[in-house]
Amino acid sequence: MTMRMAIAGGGLGGLTLARILRRHGIDAVVYEREASRSARSQGGMLDLHPESGQQALADAGLAGRFRSEARPEGEEHRILDPAGRTLVHHKPQPGSFARPEIDRSALRDLLLDSLPGDAVAWQHRLVAATPRADGGFGLTFDGGHRADCDILIGADGARSVVRSLLTDTKLSYVATLVELSISDADRRHPEIAELVGPGNLWCVGVNQILAAQRLGDGGIRVGISLRAEDRDIDTYRSKRALLDMFDGWNPHLTALIEAGDSAPTPRRIEAMPSGARWAHRPGVTLIGDAAHLMPPVGEGANQAMLDAGELAGELAANPADPDSAIQAYEEAMFTRIQPIAEMSARVQAMMLSPTAADDIIRFFTPRPTEPAPAH
Ligand SMILES: Cc1cc2nc3c(=O)[nH]c(=O)nc-3n(C[C@H](O)[C@H](O)[C@H](O)COP(=O)(O)OP(=O)(O)OC[C@H]3O[C@@H](n4cnc5c(N)ncnc54)[C@H](O)[C@@H]3O)c2cc1C
Repeated sequence: MTMRMAIAGGGLGGLTLARILRRHGIDAVVYEREASRSARSQGGMLDLHPESGQQALADAGLAGRFRSEARPEGEEHRILDPAGRTLVHHKPQPGSFARPEIDRSALRDLLLDSLPGDAVAWQHRLVAATPRADGGFGLTFDGGHRADCDILIGADGARSVVRSLLTDTKLSYVATLVELSISDADRRHPEIAELVGPGNLWCVGVNQILAAQRLGDGGIRVGISLRAEDRDIDTYRSKRALLDMFDGWNPHLTALIEAGDSAPTPRRIEAMPSGARWAHRPGVTLIGDAAHLMPPVGEGANQAMLDAGELAGELAANPADPDSAIQAYEEAMFTRIQPIAEMSARVQAMMLSPTAADDIIRFFTPRPTEPAPAH
């Protein structure tokens, strides 16, 4: 009898998993809540690390397509102080492919294009997974659809529904992120385009960061990171209120806020406690943000994709005993993630601290024997 495998969530983790499993001859259905691949903007760009995100793409047989879509020049970054003085300016070596950036939408399309059309069941928001007496789970989706599976993999992101089958860990609110976008920047805002450059820009103040990144479509994505506080999130929906918070900053920098195409979009950034784990339960596991939601300092998508590669590898190596395969994946994943989650929490706290500029310069300055850290 063939094993029915369900993946809840068609984000970077879920799609990478479906693709690698398929390469090993294992079919899985991805249930995704969005109506189609273009239902929602996928956000900014990511840099994929050789040992995690790039490794998973190699396992997926997509390293070549990634090379043609990625933008190695996007690795360039600058860090400025509120007066606009340059504290750090990193330019990749010509020809370097160490930490190439790729737009999230391009990466998701690359994965979707590698799967047959019926691999993703769109508009299937999982609302409940109920254990069946004979093993496996009965799945209920928004709108009343139902399906059964023998193995359920929760790749359903930060607010995972599948997670509650395994752990009651709580999320904590770690920062506020306010986003704006500037389209067609080279033509409409050439000064801003030049300020941001081909990669990332961070302007670091006391307890707040004004950041911007170049997208492959010529647009710029602006992100303002603020400390978690009790203030009503709607406060941040006005450019005026944001400009008041950056009062005294160089106007060339705050132009990033003024140039936003529409009103700012604020959201709370949450994380799971580092070291979170669960006792193995037959027939179900988690990957990516569902398993280990971390502050967004450059590891989440990379680790989600590596989880997918490692879980697929274990399942392919031990098809007769999927539970042992899942257990082996979980033990290795917990060990791998703990130090990364701790580092991510430390970096997040450092970035929004009163001494952030000094701390960040130290963090980004390579010591003689070490490579530059991730951004
Ligand atoms: C502002 C920001 C910047 C970031 N920058 C980086 C970076 O530079 N580098 C990096 O490595 N990481 C970064 N991250 C983290 C990264 O985005 C996540 O860790 C990564 O997307 C996790 O992948 P995932 O597949 O686990 O979850 P997601 O990408 O969130 O995908 C989950 C999918 O599940 C679907 N879904 C959710 N609930 C259900 C449901 N009930 N039923 C069905 N489908 C469902 C969602 O629609 C979505 O498609 C950043 C995060 C943020 C917030």
